[in-house]
Amino acid sequence: MYVDTLLHIDGLWREAEEGATLPVHNPANGELIGTVAKAGLADLDAALAAAERGFEVWRNTSAFERYRILRKAAELMRERGENIARLMTMEQGKPLAEARIEVGAAADIIDWFAEEARRSYGRIVPSRATGVEQRVLKEPVGPVAAFTPWNFPLNQAVRKLSGALAAGCSIILKAPEETPASPAQLIRAFVDAGIPSGVVGLVYGDPHQISSYLIAHPVIRKITFTGSTPVGKQLAALAGQHMKRVTMELGGHAPAIIFADADLDQAASMLAAAKFRNAGQVCVAPTRFLVERSVYAAFTERLVAHARAIKVGNGLDAGTTMGPLANSRRVHALKDLVEDAQALGAGVHGNAEPLAGAGNYFSPTVIVDVTTAMKAMNEEPFGPLALLMPFDTIDQVLDEANRLPYGLASFAFTRDIGNVQALSDGIKAGMLAINHVALGLPEIPFGGVGDSGYGSEGGTEAIEAYLNTKLVTQRA
Ligand code: NAD
Repeated sequence: MYVDTLLHIDGLWREAEEGATLPVHNPANGELIGTVAKAGLADLDAALAAAERGFEVWRNTSAFERYRILRKAAELMRERGENIARLMTMEQGKPLAEARIEVGAAADIIDWFAEEARRSYGRIVPSRATGVEQRVLKEPVGPVAAFTPWNFPLNQAVRKLSGALAAGCSIILKAPEETPASPAQLIRAFVDAGIPSGVVGLVYGDPHQISSYLIAHPVIRKITFTGSTPVGKQLAALAGQHMKRVTMELGGHAPAIIFADADLDQAASMLAAAKFRNAGQVCVAPTRFLVERSVYAAFTERLVAHARAIKVGNGLDAGTTMGPLANSRRVHALKDLVEDAQALGAGVHGNAEPLAGAGNYFSPTVIVDVTTAMKAMNEEPFGPLALLMPFDTIDQVLDEANRLPYGLASFAFTRDIGNVQALSDGIKAGMLAINHVALGLPEIPFGGVGDSGYGSEGGTEAIEAYLNTKLVTQRA
């Protein structure tokens, strides 16, 4: 059922020129399930030449035609959804139900950008002198190099692809080597929808080699990366050396603030769902649960009950609500974080050990009475760990929420308008969700501040990332 993945260069699906491949494993059982072609420099040169030619074709394609092709790609994703979801679960581990949602969301994101393609207007600015016209034009920035991770194999890629294509850019995507087949299906949908040759390229290989080559290359005019903060800083530095525009979607360590006046049942159930979705491998997952002291015990009890009800297993099995971690290095990293917290006096609810068997399983774990000295309170766990700490005052909780250099998502549950106002003013984050957890919809901004990166991958801001502004001022 699983398919080997090829490169897509200049309109063709092809092996790497040197024939190299990388293995792909199923994280649910460790089995080798296929291979992915590993690009070398000759392949990258071919992809760059194609992207340069493709850009000239695509920038001169009307916005309406771009819209039409993107809409068709969205429809193809929906038609092929079940097959793509299965590939994703086999290579990434998430439950099939979550994979299906991701495919549907990818189609919705393409639709949104298709529509935005027709709305990237310029403007006319009234002039000071008669006879002078001042026109502000929007132009595609040029060929884009995009780098996306394995946690949402489709959704991290589709935002970049759709934004770039809607704006009239060509794009080379380096998709994740761990989960190559599902993003390749996304490229296939665009290709089958009629994207001209060269407009979209797909490569896999050595991430460092590919990113350093593409970012420095004169053909590439824009870099967009989703992944960890340390890698993002390296790539942004390289892009800076070559004066390339950059969007960075990096890590987070989201605070979830639960006030005493909150609906605790609702808060626990929504936050548990957000925490353990995709086994916690989500950059906007709530991580630091800061709970007003008078409801600390009651909230803890509810969250632990939700964690215990989760059924961990192979994502293809009916009834599984949390799959394995996508790769084994996260299992070791999580074990280390839990042991460190325990050694420093935290209490642990949950198994907190890798589960037996060949897959990368780690049980949902709630750690109580954490302190800021613990590693988990400072490093992004990127796994199913919830960290609980009580607070007494709004100033104290805002200090803790803003303590880390990250600033991606934040959450709060309260009915008090004063709390809402204090948080809206005081939280240092790109996103704040109050009394619910829905972030990441195509039509709303998505992005962070500080070490979480810069730029937005949702809402009307997202297409701007792929547009240059040109002023034309003329006198009659
Ligand atoms: P990592 O830093 O090794 O890699 C993160 C991603 O960046 C991977 O997809 C990887 O292929 C890619 N990458 C690594 N080096 C690169 C380079 N030089 N050039 C281009 N791409 C490169 O981390 P990991 O072990 O894969 O994941 C763990 C950490 O990554 C997490 O703690 C989390 O902070 C971060 N992460 C964030 C997101 C997100 O959605 N923001 C997604 C995945 C991983």
